[in-house]
Amino acid sequence: MKTKKKGLNTICTHVGELEDSLFKGAVSPLYMSTSYAFEDVDIKRYPRYFNTPNQMALSQKIAALEHAEEAMIFGSGMAAISTALLAFLQVGDHVVLQRMLYGGTYHLITEQFEKFGIEYTFIDGSDPGSFKKAIRPTTRVVYIETPSNPLLTITDIKAFADIARENNIVSMIDNTFASPVNQNPIDLGIDVVIHSATKYMGGHSDILAGAVACSASHMERIFNLAKNLGGSLSDYTVWLLERSIKTMGIRVKAQNENAQKLAEWLNRHPDIRKVYYPGLEHHPDHEIAKKQMHGFGGMMSFELQEQIDASLFQKSLKLIKSSMSLAGVESTVLSPTQTSHALLSPEEREKQGIRDGLIRFSVGIEEVQDLMDDIEQAMRAVRKKGVTAHSH
Ligand code: PLP
Repeated sequence: MKTKKKGLNTICTHVGELEDSLFKGAVSPLYMSTSYAFEDVDIKRYPRYFNTPNQMALSQKIAALEHAEEAMIFGSGMAAISTALLAFLQVGDHVVLQRMLYGGTYHLITEQFEKFGIEYTFIDGSDPGSFKKAIRPTTRVVYIETPSNPLLTITDIKAFADIARENNIVSMIDNTFASPVNQNPIDLGIDVVIHSATKYMGGHSDILAGAVACSASHMERIFNLAKNLGGSLSDYTVWLLERSIKTMGIRVKAQNENAQKLAEWLNRHPDIRKVYYPGLEHHPDHEIAKKQMHGFGGMMSFELQEQIDASLFQKSLKLIKSSMSLAGVESTVLSPTQTSHALLSPEEREKQGIRDGLIRFSVGIEEVQDLMDDIEQAMRAVRKKGVTAHSH
């Protein structure tokens, strides 16, 4: 008999639990051992082989969340991204990627791939036709990130996965911004789903981790490289990540709700020039987002009116922190020009549409009215300072 698939929060809470047969504790025991008996296992059990009890248990949870056959946990999102890409690329191969990528991924490609003899093409925008045109006989991988950082552009996942499949190319997606709560790319035909688990999976700004989810056959290739590169995650952090994911469903849903309310409010605010959020009807990709996402996510960006100093505005926030990373339960903001995209040249930033006054907003789970009040008092503080500065 086919067992009924479990719902999101049940998967978050229970899938991959390790039974505490000794004491019957309610949560998974933590196995910190780096050395195991060598009988009865196909591949010797060792943390760098990604097969300790806690690593394997958490992999099951992440695979279930992404509707994948298998998953693997890495020491960081970049370890997951670099291992997944390099597992399918070798000298003479070509990869097509969207240009709107997390800065670290962009640098991995532009700073490292040449020395491996791997060619690459970046596609401006997210038009599937442009991806198709960029494909060469040597193209082995196509790679997207949606919603993208920091402008929340949306790529049509299914259209893109179909092109990859027709051309016998492995398709990959960075699903970090959406999280498995809001988007399940494997259902839309994607081969390999990657996460910086540092973000929504961890959710409390205290864990650095990555994850890959895909079919067993694709995972075999990724594992064969991963065990040589050595980017596994310590069992203690694996255990913490497993605990964090238990609340991911309810955390992310609360973040979705707050973000939608804030985006609509900011969109009407006279001090705001533009809001980038896929849940807004005027977002150019709103219809695609509606089709492929279960929720629009907790990430947005906005541009302040020119007369409002963005850096002063950030400094004036009291509840919302200025912070580099994203997706924690606490709301945070950053200036992409000064942080995530600081290493890009001004021309490259301009090409990507990232203006100096842009603020990326990672919406947390606080009461939405408190977040609005904080933004409002920061606007007032900036205006007041502006008046004082002019009057002297
Ligand atoms: N992908 C996205 C969309 C990210 O935002 C990040 C980190 O900020 C990464 C990948 C890299 O993840 P990590 O910092 O866990 O290596």
